[in-house]
Amino acid sequence: MTMLLVVAVALIDPDGRVLVQRRSAQRSMAGLWEFPGGKVEKDETPEAALIRELREELGIEVEQACLAPGPFASEPLGDRHLLLLLYVCRKWRGTPQPLDADGLRWVRPVELHGLAMPPADKPLIGLLEALV
Ligand code: C5P
Repeated sequence: MTMLLVVAVALIDPDGRVLVQRRSAQRSMAGLWEFPGGKVEKDETPEAALIRELREELGIEVEQACLAPGPFASEPLGDRHLLLLLYVCRKWRGTPQPLDADGLRWVRPVELHGLAMPPADKPLIGLLEALV
C-alpha cells in the first residue's frame, strides 16, 4: 500500500479564527474547504514542505519554530492511504492570498463543522477546537 504524506496548517489569527481555502475547480475534491498544505516531496522534511506550500499557496513566510505539531488524520484515499499531519501556526509574515485556491475564509473553529471539507480534514476539527 502506498502511503501519501501530506502536511497542512491551521493558521490562527489573533481573534482565534482559522484559515481555510477552497480547492479550485481543476483539482480533485474541487470546491471543498481545506486546511492549506500539500504533499511532502522526496528528500523534504514535513516542516520544509509546509513552509514551501504556504509560500506557494498563500504567499506567506513561516518560520519552522512557529510550527507547532497538532493532530493528525489517517484515512484511505482511493488505492492509497493518506497520513495528514496538521500543524498549528499563530505567527507569519505577509497577508494570505488565494494564489492556488478559489477563495479563503477565516472562520471560528466551531464553524468548520458546517463547511464541506475533505474526509481527512474532518476528524481534525474537534481536535483543533480543543487547542484554539
Ligand atoms: O493539494 P494536493 O492535491 O497536492 O494534496 C494532495 C492530497 O492530499 C490530495 O488528495 C488532497 O485531497 C489531500 N489533502 C487533504 N486535506 C488537505 C490537503 C490535502 O485531504 N488539507
